Amino acid sequence: MGRISGAQAYPLSRAICLQAKKSGHGLPFRQPSFRGSATLSWSTLLLRSSRREPWRIGLWRAENLTTIYATHGHGDHFFGTNTVLERFPGARFVARPDVIKVMRQQASAESLGTFWNPRFPGQISSHRAIAEELEGNVIRLEGHDLVSVPLGYTDTANTTCLHVPSIGLIVAGDAAYNGDHLHLSESPDQQKRQEWIAALDKMESLKPRAVIAGHKRVGNDDSPRIIGETRKYIRDFERLAMQTTTARELYDQMLELYPDWINRGALWSSVRAMRT
Ligand SMILES: [Zn+2]
Repeated sequence: MGRISGAQAYPLSRAICLQAKKSGHGLPFRQPSFRGSATLSWSTLLLRSSRREPWRIGLWRAENLTTIYATHGHGDHFFGTNTVLERFPGARFVARPDVIKVMRQQASAESLGTFWNPRFPGQISSHRAIAEELEGNVIRLEGHDLVSVPLGYTDTANTTCLHVPSIGLIVAGDAAYNGDHLHLSESPDQQKRQEWIAALDKMESLKPRAVIAGHKRVGNDDSPRIIGETRKYIRDFERLAMQTTTARELYDQMLELYPDWINRGALWSSVRAMRT
């Protein structure tokens, strides 16, 4: 979550995924042992239209898609799922039960009316699939275990990541951001930010070789370094919040530290939530 326009949402979507063989669009982390079938753990899957988008063409050419896994319940991570299900009608769309609760809130008339539709007018499908409950913690894919790991509060409640121990991969959803301002506006109090840091520690303890963020700056790699960068961002935000008095000061000082990070709108909404 944290997009401010469709145009910004689009390039980040490339940061999906486990659909390895047929992706072919420079996804930095490929694993040749995944062949005909795939599980997709979505990052940004918001809009109903534009099959022409390059990331989607990669997916469209895939031979098979078995599973779509939602890491967390933010609408920008699942509102467009039906478009994928039309292409792969046999795929299952799954999430943990507590993620589904957040999904239902996000898909409610109130949330759409006050948050999503004003930001993406006319672009969000009226056919919004809600995930079914994932049974157990593990998705099996061509001999690999894809493990759903609960992470608690990160950029919203009840978030998870998907861990593939056999190849050292974590699909982090929005528990880690990559060169993109964090969505901290749902965690203006320190305890929630502490929970986010604990989630980062938990992912780090899994010693991943690659970490796929839900939102990233185009061109960045998927280094596990982003876990530490996300943690540092939260700590910088807290420190500067203590040292500044106005929203504008906090915003400006964060930008001085993170001049190249994208989606400044997310920073501004984080600052406003802190400084109301
Ligand atoms: Zn999110």
